[in-house]
Amino acid sequence: MDDKDLRSLIGNPFNGYCPRCSCTEKMKINKGDFWECVKCGFQLGAAEGFIFVICAEKGKGNFVEPPVHFPVVRVL
Ligand SMILES: [Zn+2]
Repeated sequence: MDDKDLRSLIGNPFNGYCPRCSCTEKMKINKGDFWECVKCGFQLGAAEGFIFVICAEKGKGNFVEPPVHFPVVRVL
């Protein structure tokens, strides 16, 4: 998946909902410092408007407490 595919997949601005499934809860940050879908485990990394996909490995649901949900970000 290249950057263009990712942009069309997640939308711009990205609203924080999982692009891979119909989960109605926003992605949350996990203990590995990645954004993870609570339903399917899809992971995204994000820093200062740059978003990248971590798809090799599904998240394990190790979310930080208290939960931190994804903010709306404009993809550059
Ligand atoms: Zn998902």
